Amino acid sequence: MLRTHTCGELRPENINEEVRLSGWVQKIRDKGALIWIDLRDRYGITQLLFKEEDTKPELLNKVRSLGREYVISATGTVIERESKNPNIPTGDIEIKVTGLDILNPSKVPPFTIEDNTDGGEELRMKFRYLDLRRKPLRTNLELRHRMAIEVRNYLDQQQFFEIETPYLIKSTPEGARDFVVPSRMNEGEFYALPQSPQTFKQLLMVAGYDRYYQIVRCFRDEDLRADRQPEFTQIDCEMAFVTQEDVLKTFEGLTTHLFKNIKGVKVDVFPQMSFDEAMKKYGSDKPDLRFGMEFVELNNVAQGKGFNVFNSAELVVGICVPGCAEYSRKQLDALTDFVRKPQIGAKGLVYVKCNPDGTFKSSVDKFYSQDDLNGWAEKAGANAGDLLLVLSGDANTSRKQLAELRLEMGNTLGLCDSNVFKPLWVVDFPLLEWNEESARFHAMHHPFTSPKKEDMSLLKSDPAKVRANAYDLVINGVEVGGGSIRIHNKELQKQMFKVLGFTDEEARAQFGFLMNAFEYGAPPHGGIALGFDRLVALFGGHDSIRDFIAFPKNNAGRDVMIDSPSPISEEQLKELNLSVDIEDAKEL
Ligand code: ASP
Repeated sequence: MLRTHTCGELRPENINEEVRLSGWVQKIRDKGALIWIDLRDRYGITQLLFKEEDTKPELLNKVRSLGREYVISATGTVIERESKNPNIPTGDIEIKVTGLDILNPSKVPPFTIEDNTDGGEELRMKFRYLDLRRKPLRTNLELRHRMAIEVRNYLDQQQFFEIETPYLIKSTPEGARDFVVPSRMNEGEFYALPQSPQTFKQLLMVAGYDRYYQIVRCFRDEDLRADRQPEFTQIDCEMAFVTQEDVLKTFEGLTTHLFKNIKGVKVDVFPQMSFDEAMKKYGSDKPDLRFGMEFVELNNVAQGKGFNVFNSAELVVGICVPGCAEYSRKQLDALTDFVRKPQIGAKGLVYVKCNPDGTFKSSVDKFYSQDDLNGWAEKAGANAGDLLLVLSGDANTSRKQLAELRLEMGNTLGLCDSNVFKPLWVVDFPLLEWNEESARFHAMHHPFTSPKKEDMSLLKSDPAKVRANAYDLVINGVEVGGGSIRIHNKELQKQMFKVLGFTDEEARAQFGFLMNAFEYGAPPHGGIALGFDRLVALFGGHDSIRDFIAFPKNNAGRDVMIDSPSPISEEQLKELNLSVDIEDAKEL
């Protein structure tokens, strides 16, 4: 072996031992009489020491020829360090080097390989293998690895089988666009990469594998954001002979297991909240419960007083921001600008300061007496010193806008501590949502989700009102995962496809295999998929998933390191029957 120890391993107990370490040159300090080198590998950093007076000239020459990121192997004796470094675990010792091999030189890296690097995003992506040498990324990938192991441990204890499902499948509509792969052997035909293994895991239930999971790559051709990648990883699970409560219990168990074993934190019970309640109280189906500021509906105290903006509004809704009555004009203007941003789109913001002396000052004093405003404060449970922020308009829109403002206030007031975890199940989602563009209902979760028994009769008369046996796991305002109890009855599945606007032929062509399977004894079943990248990022205390994936794509869906996607040769195109003959093209 080219090493006896790693660069993170040696301690005072090893003093006087002869060792060999290999790694990358992180830093060189040449003070003439003494030269120090920080040697780095995946495990840490160890300091190498060369004393000019007792180092052979050839060795000194070799040391002085080194540069950053050279790969070297050093032999020497572990000695106690004179000035110790309490910041690293190996900081009490150093290696007095007697032999050195240069295993490979390195070009000067395009950015510093330090915790805080000078490299910009694009450059770091292009040289991802160098970026991955940095400790923050290494820590992230280690966290990911540990979490994957703990997921497997827990699910194995719970009798789940890890079963792989194919990547080359047939398009299954789950709301996003498919990535497709042309088939060489089947001219003019395409595979699709799975958006999720949804139908396969359901078929595994029909096959009797009553607890399945897979840590699996999924592919969705969507526009990208900080928390989205065209390929991402899910902890995908399915269970047979279960109710919704069983699924929630099992995955509450998984989440608790991860919090305990990875973060060493005990998480309280996971509350359940209906979709309707979440929308009413927080204007969002993924509320951040690390702080309060629940919505207060003010229609009956704020309407009918001559302020037409409120009088004509479907909803007058506000939040009570604790302790912010002293906000300056400037701070309030900034909040008004915030809600007026085009992405949020409110027309204006009404505030009421509940002054410490018991009086009120508002932006609508012209229309409301002190008594009126006192009524608002009472309704909102506001105390002296608090600030009420109020929006109005169409109910759905105002709620969404206020949700943004609530999050903004939570962040501003430092209430979003990344070391605090507040999980929540959002349940009873609507089964369907109306899509203006296609002028038909789409499945809110996916077409295999079962309607609630008590709402079944509405499926024909008022589909928009039907609730689903569907649930999301939300932690700190992040949708960590979602799932549902499935339809396992052929007739109901047929009816569902009809509601979604499929003709019988279309349903058969796309999902015949599933409907056929349902004729051979499908057990009741349900499941969930958790976004693994997001979960790891959340545990790592970050919003963006990118630095928790070894080789992610950029915002344009490109891998700038390998330069993909890229054109393919005419020959490949021909072989795949994708080549457009120039002459034919002209005729077209
Ligand atoms: N397949 C679903 C998804 O990817 C999850 C599930 O219903 O189990 O969102």
